[in-house]
Amino acid sequence: MDRVSNKPQDSLYDVAVMAAIRHPLTYRFPPSWTVATGQRVLVPLATRKATGIVLGPTSKLAPGIEVREALRTLDPEPALSPELVRLGLWISDYYLAPPGEVFRAMLPLRQETRRARQVHLTEEGRRKLQELAAGPPEESNTSQDAALLAYLDRRPGASFEILQRKFPDAYARALDEKWVTVEEVKKERSRRQVFAVRLAGPLPEHPPRLSPVAKRIMEALEQQGPAEDHRPLLESARAQLASLRKLGQKGLIELSESGWQGAHSVLRERDAPETAGGTPAPRLTPAQSAVLADLFPRLDSGGFGVVLLHGITGSGKTEIYLHLIARCLERGRSALMLVPEIALTPAMQSLFYSRFGDEVALLHSGLTERERDDAWWRVRHGQARVVLGTRSAVFAPLANLGTVIVDEEHDSSYKQDETPRYHGRDVAVVRAQYAGALALLGSATPSLESYWNAQEGKYHLAKLEERIAGRKLASVEVVDMRQEFRETHTQMPLSRKLEEEIEAQLRASAQTMLLLNRRGYSWFLLCRSCGQTQRCVNCSVSLTYHRREHRLSCHYCGYSTAVPSHCPACGSEYLQYVGEGTEKIEHKFAELFPGARVARLDRDVARRRGEFLRVLDEFRRGKIDILVGTQLIAKGHDFPGVTLVGVLSADIGLGLPDFRAAERTFQLVTQVAGRAGRGEAPGRVLVQTFYPEHYAIRLAADQNYSGFFSKEMGFRRMMHYPPLTALANIVAQHEKLERAAQVAKEMGDFFTKVEAQFPGIKILGPGPAPLAKVERRYRIQFLLKSNSRANLHALLKQLVHHATQSAIQPREIMIDVDPVNIM
Ligand code: ADP
Ligand code: ZN
Ligand code: ZN
Repeated sequence: MDRVSNKPQDSLYDVAVMAAIRHPLTYRFPPSWTVATGQRVLVPLATRKATGIVLGPTSKLAPGIEVREALRTLDPEPALSPELVRLGLWISDYYLAPPGEVFRAMLPLRQETRRARQVHLTEEGRRKLQELAAGPPEESNTSQDAALLAYLDRRPGASFEILQRKFPDAYARALDEKWVTVEEVKKERSRRQVFAVRLAGPLPEHPPRLSPVAKRIMEALEQQGPAEDHRPLLESARAQLASLRKLGQKGLIELSESGWQGAHSVLRERDAPETAGGTPAPRLTPAQSAVLADLFPRLDSGGFGVVLLHGITGSGKTEIYLHLIARCLERGRSALMLVPEIALTPAMQSLFYSRFGDEVALLHSGLTERERDDAWWRVRHGQARVVLGTRSAVFAPLANLGTVIVDEEHDSSYKQDETPRYHGRDVAVVRAQYAGALALLGSATPSLESYWNAQEGKYHLAKLEERIAGRKLASVEVVDMRQEFRETHTQMPLSRKLEEEIEAQLRASAQTMLLLNRRGYSWFLLCRSCGQTQRCVNCSVSLTYHRREHRLSCHYCGYSTAVPSHCPACGSEYLQYVGEGTEKIEHKFAELFPGARVARLDRDVARRRGEFLRVLDEFRRGKIDILVGTQLIAKGHDFPGVTLVGVLSADIGLGLPDFRAAERTFQLVTQVAGRAGRGEAPGRVLVQTFYPEHYAIRLAADQNYSGFFSKEMGFRRMMHYPPLTALANIVAQHEKLERAAQVAKEMGDFFTKVEAQFPGIKILGPGPAPLAKVERRYRIQFLLKSNSRANLHALLKQLVHHATQSAIQPREIMIDVDPVNIM
C-alpha cells in the first residue's frame, strides 16, 4: 500500500476549485485515473468537499506545500471542451475573477451522474458461499468471508466502498479468489420526484367549491402559468403534494412526471397557427441580400472575424441572423445567438422553432434545473446545433461553431453584475476567436465601444439603412414639459398634446405604447413633517411603493415592508406618495380614458410569466389599446399595430452620476421610437422632457446615430472615459463600515506605492460609491482610468496579489473591469 509515496510527478494536476479562491490548486490524482482537461472532479477543500475543473497536469509545486489527493471524477466525459476551458481562463485573467467561480458560471449543471462500482457474486463465489454455509464455523477469516458473501447474496450490486469498509480483509481476498466481480456503472443521481403542473383547461363557469389551499394553488397556476417543478409552486401556495393530487383527481389540473417537453411547449402551442408547417422565409430585400453577400464569404472562409451590423429599427436584422444560421447548418457547423432577455421575446423563439425545429436549444435563466440540464446535454451531445439564449448561453457547449450572433449588442443586460463580471458581448467575440467563427454584433444603436472598433477597422461594418418595404421611420416630436408647466401650472405626467394624441388613437382604434422607465406605483413615501423618506434597511435608497401588494420595496435587494401609518422617524401621519411609476400610470390611464383597454409590462409583470405572455399576446392581437411599460417594451418587439409611442419622461436616467447616462437615454428613446410604425401605417412619437435641448434627446428625436456618436465621443475623449480610455471600478465593501474603510485604506496605500510605476493611470478615490450601501454592505469606491489596457491589467494583477498577501477576501473587494454601471 505504499504506492502512495512514490507516485510519479505527472499525477499532479491543477484544478480550478469552484470556490472563491483566486488561483487554481494542485491535487494528486491516483495513477489509475484517466483524466482530461475540462473534466469535473471532486476534491477535498479544507474540511469539506468541492467540485473542480481539471486544467491540466502540472509539475511546478511550491516547496513545503502538502498536496492532497483528489476524491473522484464526476462525469465519464469532460464537461468542458478545451476551447471552453481556454475561454474560462481568459475570463478569469481578464476580469480578475477566481477561476473556479468562472467555471461555476459556465457550467450551470447539477451533478447528473456519478460512477458507482457495484460488486456481484460470481459462480465461484456462490459455490464458496454454499460450502461455507454447509460447514461449521471455523477461524475468524472464514467467518468474515462467509459474512461478506452472504451480504452480497442478499444485496447484489452493493457498492465497493461499503464492502471495503465493512469487510476490509475479506474483500481483498474475495477479489483475489475471484469470488466477486466489480462493475462500473453510471448511476443517475437520486432525484426527488418532480411533477410538472398545469391547469387542465379554462376554469369551468361554476367551479366546484374549493378549500382555501386548493384555491391558492389554482390562483398561483393562473398567475404564474404552468409550473415545471411542483415544489416552488407548493411553497408559494403553502400547500402539500396531497392537495395537488386531489386537484388532479378532480380534473382541474394536470400533473406530469416528464414535464411538458421544456418551457417552450407553452409557447409552441400558443404560436401554433404561426408555426404550423413553418413560416416560409420572406423574399430578401436587396439591402438584406447585399449584407448577406458580404457575410457569407466571411463565414465560409472559416476564419475569425467580427462584423458590426448597424441596422435601423425595423430594417430586418432578424432575417439576416436566420439566414446566417441556416448557412452554418448547411455547412455542418453550429450557431449561437444571444439576445438580451429571452423570456421577453417569445416571437423570436417561435421564429427559431419554425425555421430550425428540433435543432434549437434554449438556454436562459428562466428554465428550471431540469430543463436547463436537458438543453445543455442536448447541445453537448450534438443533438441541438442552434442555441438561442441569454448572456450565459455564450458558454453553450457547441462544437464546430460557425457563428456567434449578439442581437441588440448595446444592451446592458449582457454585463453580469456579480462575479465573474464578464460582458457577454465581449466574451462572445473571444469565443468566436477561439473557435475560428464569425462574430456578428447587431443593433440600431450600437454601443460606443463597438462602433469605435468599427471605425478603427477592428470590426467590419455592415449597414441596413432603410426600413423593410420602404416604411418610414416614425416622426418624432419633443414636448417641452417646462413650457407645459408654465402654461398649465400643474405638474402632470401627461402633456395636453400627448393626451389629445392618445384620444385620437382610441377614436381610430389604433394602438399606443407609453414608456416610463420606472416601475412601481410611487417613487417613494415622504413625511411632510420631517422630510424623511422611507428607506431600505439594507441599501442607501428609498423604497418604492407597490400598490398591488400594498407594500414598500427595494429595487436593489428585494427587501419589502408594510406601509407605515405614521412616520417611523417623527410619528407624524402626514405621509405622502411622491412620483409616478408604471403601476400608477396604468391606473390613471384607465380612469382618464374610460373604455380603453390598458395594460402594463414591466419587471413586476414579467415575474408572473403567464400574465406576461398573455399581455404580449393580446397586445400583438390588438386586444389592448394602450400598453404602459418600462424599457422592457423598448426591446426588439415587433408590434405592427402600434402607430403612436409616447415617452412620458425621457430624462429619468439623465441626471444619474454615470458617464453612460446620455448613451443610455439616447438608446432607450431611439429604440422605443423604433417600435412605432412597423406595420403599414406610419408611426408618430412624442417625447416629453424637461431638457429638450439635451443632445441625447435631440439626436434621438432625429434618430441620428452618427451625430450622437461623434458628439458623445467628444465628451468621452475630453473626460477620459471608454472607449478611448480603459476603465476599472474597484469597490471595497463590507457589512462593517470600519472594515470597508480599512480595506479601502489598504488599497489606497497600495495605489500610492505603485502609482509611479504606472504614469498613464489615473486613480480617482477613495470616496463613497454613489450607492453607498447595497445589500447591507458599505461601499467605498476607486475609479481607475488608463490610456493603456495592458498597463491597467498589470496594475490590477498586482492589486489582487497584494490583496491576497494582506488577507483581503475576494468578497471584500469588487473589481469590475470595463464597468457598465459605476453606481
Ligand atoms: P429589426 O430587428 O431590424 O428591428 P425585424 O427583423 O424585426 O427588424 O424586421 C422588421 C419587420 O420586417 C418584421 O415584421 C419582419 O418580419 C419583416 N421583414 C423582415 N425582412 C423582410 C422581408 N425580406 N420581406 C418582408 N418582410 C420582412
Ligand atoms: Zn417624519
Ligand atoms: Zn435594499
